[in-house]
Amino acid sequence: MTECKTGAEHIKSLRDGRTVYIDGELVTDVTTHPAFRNAVRSAGLLYDFQARPENLELLTFAPEGSNRRINRSWQMPRSYEEMVLRRKAMQAWAAVSYGFMGRSPDHLASALVGQRMGIDVFRRHSPERAKAFADYFDYASRNDIFLTYVIINPQAERSKDWGEQHEDLVARIVDEDSSGVTIRGAKMLGTSSIMANEVLVANLQPLKPGEEDLAFSCALPMNTKGLRVLSRKSYEAAAVSVFDNPLSSRFDENDALMFFDDVKVPWERLFVYRDTDMCRAQFHDTPGHAYQNYQAQIRLSVKIKFLVGLARRITEAIGTTNIPSVREQLGVMAAKASMVDAMLSGMEASGTRFGEWFVPNKHFMYSAQVLTQELYPKLVNAIRELAGGALIMLPSSVRDFANSELNKIIRTTQRSASMSPEDKVKFMKAAWDAIGSEFGSRHTQYEMFYAGARFVTAGHSFRTFDWDAATGMVDSLLSTYDLASASDHAAHELDGIHP
Ligand SMILES: Cc1cc2nc3c(=O)[nH]c(=O)nc-3n(C[C@H](O)[C@H](O)[C@H](O)COP(=O)(O)OP(=O)(O)OC[C@H]3O[C@@H](n4cnc5c(N)ncnc54)[C@H](O)[C@@H]3O)c2cc1C
Repeated sequence: MTECKTGAEHIKSLRDGRTVYIDGELVTDVTTHPAFRNAVRSAGLLYDFQARPENLELLTFAPEGSNRRINRSWQMPRSYEEMVLRRKAMQAWAAVSYGFMGRSPDHLASALVGQRMGIDVFRRHSPERAKAFADYFDYASRNDIFLTYVIINPQAERSKDWGEQHEDLVARIVDEDSSGVTIRGAKMLGTSSIMANEVLVANLQPLKPGEEDLAFSCALPMNTKGLRVLSRKSYEAAAVSVFDNPLSSRFDENDALMFFDDVKVPWERLFVYRDTDMCRAQFHDTPGHAYQNYQAQIRLSVKIKFLVGLARRITEAIGTTNIPSVREQLGVMAAKASMVDAMLSGMEASGTRFGEWFVPNKHFMYSAQVLTQELYPKLVNAIRELAGGALIMLPSSVRDFANSELNKIIRTTQRSASMSPEDKVKFMKAAWDAIGSEFGSRHTQYEMFYAGARFVTAGHSFRTFDWDAATGMVDSLLSTYDLASASDHAAHELDGIHP
């Protein structure tokens, strides 16, 4: 056995008979299907990267009582130093996909780490459910399982409560017996589910008393009987070549609707049972939500740096870097990239204790979420503005180079201040794949919504801000004068206005 999980091991584990559909057909093997195989390989690459001897210490650790190392994202920090070590591991992992694999395995590991820190919250709900969760955490972490989650209900009629939607829309408990519960209905939008081992099913959106059938949480292997995965269009399948689509051909992690067609959930995999408030508490009264979104910001810090790098190279390619207004735009972009890094450092430096554990500053994390979901589309737009037509004036595909007549014209017309014609085409195609292709466009939607619509993230920011400190200062100012003293001051020409 190798010292830690490898790519080959992960890829083999995905040949498990799961039920994935695309383009009207059932996929028999996601590891070889043209819609998924390269993304699956990239997931494998993550594990091979951590298994490299030179990366083992940075990316993995040996959990107590085990001699097989696992990814550091499963580590539960007890101090600021341990938190920073863990973050550096996750940044190195994110760099493998330039931050384009949003639901890499460290996202769910982080969610579960945070929830495990709050195991007492589960105990208050039910000792049996808490034991199920703690046992599951041990199993998932020790086996370095790749998990995804579906915690959001399919968007249908927003003017109706979840319990009022069509009866088979939102996944709910429809039956139970001595071995477990049966669930039916759907959840969105299982990113990476085609290449994950298991899925955490839960409810992040608020539920009301009376909606207990919807109020559950569990974890299921992706090959569970009745679990149907309906993939969106594959950008990987639509990619022309690595040269034409270097990102979408390799890092299309996929998103899928999950339909639970009378899926049986054994009690030992059920963590929340018919408790609407516990659905909220699983994320918000434990550090789960803080940890999962802290990971997302860590990954984003890598992606934003990559995008700013693209912007700079675009200006070099078309020879505009030294135009003062272009330098100014690049300077603003650089400031924004550094702001993302600075917010991460702030979350860590002002982290707090949660029992024996160290957790990131929650309000700083929510502030980062609000600001970065706004930042991403603006940054993409700013890069488009710097680029002009160069992103579009490109050969239709790599095959144009093989036609000698076209090759000659391409080499004459793809001029650049800093690159050969071939390198310019290669680079501009990469830039377009990142920000303009269907894959790039999905990434904008992802960054804007993966953590909830703006009214949700801004709501968290509102809830966690220290309003007393802010309004206290206003009150302090107002307490230094009143109408009577103001008249008095007027009489004494502002004498002694300071407290
Ligand atoms: C690419 C992508 C990948 C995703 N991956 C996952 C995943 O892996 N797992 C998962 O669980 N989820 C995933 N999601 C789902 C994501 O969490 C949701 O899209 C997000 O929570 C927003 O919910 P919604 O789509 O229902 O939008 P809504 O909440 O319906 O919001 C859409 C818009 O409607 C308006 N609106 C709706 N309700 C209100 C209101 N009450 N007040 C004010 N305005 C309102 C706002 O303009 C808002 O921006 C993914 C989403 C995307 C786009």
